Amino acid sequence: MVTPFRCMPNCGYCCTISPVTVFPHEVIILSRLAEELDITDLVFKPGYVITDIKNGVRIALSYLMQLNSKGICPFLDPYNKTCSVHSLYKPLTCRSFPYLPRVIRYIIDPELKVVDFNVEFVISSLCPVIKNNYTPDDLELMIRNIKIAMKAMPKEVDAAQEAIRVRKIYADALTALWRAGYIELRGNDGNNVNWPIVNAFEYIRQFIPHITLDSFVPNIMEIMKKARS
Ligand code: SF4
Ligand code: SF4
Repeated sequence: MVTPFRCMPNCGYCCTISPVTVFPHEVIILSRLAEELDITDLVFKPGYVITDIKNGVRIALSYLMQLNSKGICPFLDPYNKTCSVHSLYKPLTCRSFPYLPRVIRYIIDPELKVVDFNVEFVISSLCPVIKNNYTPDDLELMIRNIKIAMKAMPKEVDAAQEAIRVRKIYADALTALWRAGYIELRGNDGNNVNWPIVNAFEYIRQFIPHITLDSFVPNIMEIMKKARS
């Protein structure tokens, strides 16, 4: 049996390694939370971008939440190494770490007018708990068999599965818009770099307004209320 994973309290190392990949709707949620919490150094840069050649825009399907000038996530308390959005809304990447995508391949198919993706996972040895307690064979086993991974790190695998569900909402909405003729998608081929970049959540909502933050995070209203109190 593989050792159960327990994140070390007051570690916060994974909040200092690199920018955090977040979904477009998480940009909106985290920006609102930062406002409520008086966090002023929150910066997002577009991550994976596709092109809508019909409307002349590039659509960001992910963003990178930048480390601040201290080299840490803006939500990390530098003294006690706790996350200030832990009990509010923590990005799915943070919740799934150290079980995270090694590669996400998007499929943008102009013939079938389909947006799809596949994901390969890895368990990061940058996490000291992983580094010190798991052998390469343990990690290989967990990556090959999700049931074993689920037993060892249920919350993390669950968050990774939730990220797949969320990514599918984006892929399906873009596919529907493409097939209905509102948009015409292409992969990011390095052309059209001067076209504006739009947030996929906000862009999709222009056409399908019933896709809201609740579609991704059902208790979003409670979270915002809690952040204000
Ligand atoms: S690096 Fe590992 S132990 Fe440290 S906070 Fe992140 S997940 Fe937890
Ligand atoms: S949001 Fe929280 S858990 Fe995620 S990197 Fe920032 S401080 Fe760490």
